[in-house]
Amino acid sequence: MARVVFLGPPGAGKGTQASRFAAEHGVPHLSTGDLLRAAVAARTPLGREADGYMQQGQLVPDPLVLRILSERLALPDARDGFLLDGFPRNVAQATRLESMTRLDSVLFFDLPPERLVDRLSGRRVCPTCQSVYHVTAAPPRIEGRCDVDGHDLVQRSDDRPDAIRMRLKVYAEQTAPLLEYYRARGLLRSIDADGAPGQVAVRLRAALT
Ligand code: ADP
Repeated sequence: MARVVFLGPPGAGKGTQASRFAAEHGVPHLSTGDLLRAAVAARTPLGREADGYMQQGQLVPDPLVLRILSERLALPDARDGFLLDGFPRNVAQATRLESMTRLDSVLFFDLPPERLVDRLSGRRVCPTCQSVYHVTAAPPRIEGRCDVDGHDLVQRSDDRPDAIRMRLKVYAEQTAPLLEYYRARGLLRSIDADGAPGQVAVRLRAALT
């Protein structure tokens, strides 16, 4: 079970489950969204190029994402296992991934589209430790402050209405075809992603045993 992909629409809760899952299984959590945001924050050439696409909710072009992902996948801690979150996001990326490594399973986070907008627009994140909250479903102990390090929480620039609409459209057109791709390879397992993070974590564990 060591080489796992989390697949699902934006807002399905992949990132929240991924941090827990990675800690429990002792594998690195490889989020292309987090890697790209770090590159944007560090103002690297790649980050500067990716920034505009991300703000609009478009996919960052494959060559950039593949570069950042393959560098990360080559680090020693990912040798025996990893959890991929947010990659692959289209069939071309999936094909490239297949040439880089084998996979044990692909977990699909199933959530009705009407629940996604609420999840995304209520999301708040800690800019320093990346902890994720939701204004009503998973609020921090003190409003607007991170439970872990006390930093002021922020809204991601792509969690605003225009970008959310674009991300959902991009998901439907480019990422959803991966369900069939992985089903055909016998790797796909679905979990009901509607519910509190603790409930979803239980279903996730059950799906992987
Ligand atoms: P979410 O799944 O909530 O949309 P992510 O943090 O996974 O959030 O991704 C944020 C943005 O980063 C995406 O909208 C896209 O612009 C970019 N991105 C992340 N992963 C990829 C990828 N595999 N291919 C292309 N762009 C990506």
